[in-house]
Amino acid sequence: MKRVSERLGHLPPSATLGIAAKAREMRAAGIDVVSFGAGEPDFPTPEHVVAEAARACFDPQNHKYTPAAGLPQLRKAIAEDVARYSRVDVDWSEVMVTNGAKQAVFQAFAALLDPGDEVLLPSPHWVTYPAGIDLAGGTTVSVPTEIGKGFKVTVDSLERARTDRTKLLVFVSPSNPTGAVYTADEARAIGEWAAANEIWVLADEIYQRLTYFTDVAPSIAAVTPRFENWVLVNGVAKSYAMTGWRVGWMVGPADVIEAANSHQSHATGNVANVAQHAALAALTGPQEAVEEMRLAFDARRKLMFGMVSALPGVVCIEPEGAFYVFPDFSSHLGDRWASTDELATAILVEAGVALVPGESFGTPGFLRLSYAVGEEDIERGVERIGGLLAT
Ligand code: PMP
Repeated sequence: MKRVSERLGHLPPSATLGIAAKAREMRAAGIDVVSFGAGEPDFPTPEHVVAEAARACFDPQNHKYTPAAGLPQLRKAIAEDVARYSRVDVDWSEVMVTNGAKQAVFQAFAALLDPGDEVLLPSPHWVTYPAGIDLAGGTTVSVPTEIGKGFKVTVDSLERARTDRTKLLVFVSPSNPTGAVYTADEARAIGEWAAANEIWVLADEIYQRLTYFTDVAPSIAAVTPRFENWVLVNGVAKSYAMTGWRVGWMVGPADVIEAANSHQSHATGNVANVAQHAALAALTGPQEAVEEMRLAFDARRKLMFGMVSALPGVVCIEPEGAFYVFPDFSSHLGDRWASTDELATAILVEAGVALVPGESFGTPGFLRLSYAVGEEDIERGVERIGGLLAT
């Protein structure tokens, strides 16, 4: 008898989490590893958030279940956050708190997709989307982008990939892994195309406040008038250095949220009560730490972009958001390393630097380096990569 189901039997584990785990293992064995692998801030969670979580821990009321969709006061604070940063008005009943933005992505696919539905996924893309689409019974249709065009899709490239089975477009700005940020005009053109073709948009806005040339990344929901078929995904992980607390959310039309809530009520129930209190403190408390971290990321971004661009044969465009650079290393492939998968393994094993090969993002030939690490590590790590390429 087959032990593992057809559905999960072929599901690859998250490559980015896998590389972070391998780097941790090497470190535990006493090997000095610089980690550009994980997409997570190296800062601690702001102290007032931790203090609120500690207080919440000691209140027995918070040892109980909350409604599956989350604490009403947190859902209200999220609705205010959406108004402030995404600039769309939503009622708090249109908000569902999830176990990280990751689960919001899964819930959104589960709520919107039927078998045979096609999802347009601009590539390079974050590793988790194809897995979520697949588990929801949908079909991923990659829409390739080019480094020379800023890694952005256009109405033309989307239209070429559209069929009468196209149900949904995944729109991520700022992007993981490329750091590309769509302007309001670019987002509006895509939103209008989606509206005209009755295509839903899942807008992943987890990096919306981590931008370096604009105040905030324009939300496709806000810049497209009279467009209502969108679901926004966001969370506290990246802006507030709260990856481990696992609080994210999805926001969308009442019927979609209701369906997702029924699913969540069976699958996980509510997100940890204390973690929801921490997220509430993050959203409603002082915001200075968010800006301090953004400024630190910006300095690191400049340093890493400058150093990586100077590596011989490497082509890199300047990232405008998130905390990744996504350079083209294809000129280094050949007899010594046949693929960026092999190159990434060599960089980890021989140079002690963890990073993620482009294959994981549907784009062989590239490597993703996260600059959510200290400047000294950026210098050491990129120098080591340069040393390996030169040998
Ligand atoms: N969306 C994108 C684009 C991401 O890069 C990540 C984290 N790597 C997430 C969602 C998930 O965030 P969370 O930690 O809140 O699950």
